[in-house]
Amino acid sequence: MSVRSSSDVGASAPDDTGIFLEDANGLVQHCTPSLLRHVGLPEPADHYRGRPASALHEMLASAFLDRAAYLDGVEFLRARGQAVHREVLTTAAGNLLERTFVPLRDGDVLNGTLWQFGTARSPDDRAADRLALFEAIFAALPGQMAVLSPTGRYEFVTPSAIRDDALRAWIIGRTDREYAAYRGRAASFAEAREASIRRVVEQRAFDEYEEELHGADGGTRHYQRHMVPMFGADGAVEHVLGYGLDLTQLRRVEQQLVQSQKMDALGRLAGGIAHDFNNLLTVIAGCGEALMLELDAGDDRHELLDPILEASKRAADLTRQLLAFSRRSVQQATTVDVVEVLDRTVAMLRRLVSDAIEIKVRRAPGAHSVPLDASQLQQVLVNLAVNARDAMASGGTLTIDVRPLALSEATFGLAEGEYVELQVTDTGHGMTEEVRQQVFEPFFTTKPAGVGTGLGLSTVYGIVTTAKGTIRISSTVGEGTSIRVILPRDQRELDVGAPAASSSPIRGTGTILLVENDALVLNLVRRGLQGLGYDILVAHDGVAALEVAAQHEGPIALLLTDVVMPRMGGGILAQRLKEIRPATRVLFMSGFVDDPTLAAEIAQGDEGLLQKPFTLHVLAERVAGVLARP
Ligand code: ADP
Ligand code: MG
Repeated sequence: MSVRSSSDVGASAPDDTGIFLEDANGLVQHCTPSLLRHVGLPEPADHYRGRPASALHEMLASAFLDRAAYLDGVEFLRARGQAVHREVLTTAAGNLLERTFVPLRDGDVLNGTLWQFGTARSPDDRAADRLALFEAIFAALPGQMAVLSPTGRYEFVTPSAIRDDALRAWIIGRTDREYAAYRGRAASFAEAREASIRRVVEQRAFDEYEEELHGADGGTRHYQRHMVPMFGADGAVEHVLGYGLDLTQLRRVEQQLVQSQKMDALGRLAGGIAHDFNNLLTVIAGCGEALMLELDAGDDRHELLDPILEASKRAADLTRQLLAFSRRSVQQATTVDVVEVLDRTVAMLRRLVSDAIEIKVRRAPGAHSVPLDASQLQQVLVNLAVNARDAMASGGTLTIDVRPLALSEATFGLAEGEYVELQVTDTGHGMTEEVRQQVFEPFFTTKPAGVGTGLGLSTVYGIVTTAKGTIRISSTVGEGTSIRVILPRDQRELDVGAPAASSSPIRGTGTILLVENDALVLNLVRRGLQGLGYDILVAHDGVAALEVAAQHEGPIALLLTDVVMPRMGGGILAQRLKEIRPATRVLFMSGFVDDPTLAAEIAQGDEGLLQKPFTLHVLAERVAGVLARP
């Protein structure tokens, strides 16, 4: 309440209400003539202005039947400092007056006190007031509330239960069953409510159950229903109070939580397996490749060796997909233009799908750079296109849209900002809600064995979430599916793509400190690098590596180190080594990086990460590349 001047107060009060205003110093600031009339005091109102309020209270107190009670009340109200409305007092003449006390505050500062005296309302008026108050409370409560007879006929319904005024009036005296028939709905919810009311009446106790309502729009809403007995004077259940809380939103959030926990656990599992596999694959592929270099082109043993290399390549692709899903691969420090990659990939997509499928590509003008590398983006496109193809066995249209998307506020779990949207829409068989909820799980597939691996969408999910984007799926059974991949727009320079691998690995010179805790990998990489012409120092972890570096007298051109190792990992090792040997370059190699702070350290290093498993060609190329940098 804000009071600008004392005359405002008098002006806004009803005629028969007497008011006086006490300022912060306890002096009467304003007093209305009606106040003095009420209690039969003779002086003009001006008489009290500027005098202590306590003197006026003394005068007023004598006008009431119980003088002490009046004054005690004043003290009590002042001490409590909270507004009190309509405290009823009896005057000496036997009339009822209502005293209202309002402290006027500006924040914590008390500016004054408003005292108000009015004729008390009749008992009937007060009952009506109270009823209106309760109705207002019911209407304001978030739940749906109704009072029913023990036979289930509605006696009272809140607007939150039935919004439509006419319908709310209609239902009074009627039952849920009649309501269901009237609205053409299935009566199952009405039967459940009747059963609950019966339990309340028979057991004379509270009853509770959960209700699922299927709306005309196909959505399901969940309610918590409470039925509470209201007893009459004779102790029988006279009414039943029905209370309903809408749990729909809560249930949805719970489901999302369970889902994300499940994805997280699966991610950990997948990441752990992929990590160990990558070390093994590095050895298999590396040894195979080393043998390959020793065989002549016409050697019969190629027949045995080629499939080994081919199989290890496929295994590496699989683990890469698993890692992409588990989000434990380090985010690539590259940027690609979605439209540019799409244009390069469309021809391949045409070959992937049958002639019965028409591919339409639409590119909205604008900037389309995203923080991925070209092969990741192609993987996203191919996986989505293959799924669309599988959903359109008898043909249809595959539409790919690329457009910039500006979010002016946080949406889809993404912060506001600039994004690029890639939308892949098919006219296929679509998917049910149940399928839609599971599609991102690795190995979830509805396709026969041999056709689906269930890794397509989980890979897309991993790639997109690692790049801090999101995926939205909307699908209607029988009509088709639309998948929206939303990626943050990248402002950095474009990735021009790695140069094609030369036919024989690039040779080089210089000393490399190789640190790796897996002995098989260590030996393989050492042999490979020695074969290329480098001098190699080795260590099994960061601590040992620092010792080796301290004892070595000549320069060390490159630290090539694993990331996760016992005692001291690659990130810290690189920092320490840079302190004593600032000229040494650093190249990390890892199958995954689990720890976000490690990932950040690695991302900061300008020389980047060599993703395991790698071939000798790639190793030679990256090492030479890092050493060649100015
Ligand atoms: P896979 O294709 O190997 O089954 P995915 O992870 O790519 O694995 O997809 C998982 C499942 O999601 C599919 O088996 C299919 O049921 C469903 N799905 C994915 N994309 C579509 C689509 N465009 N239309 C209908 N269903 C789809
Ligand atoms: Mg697939």
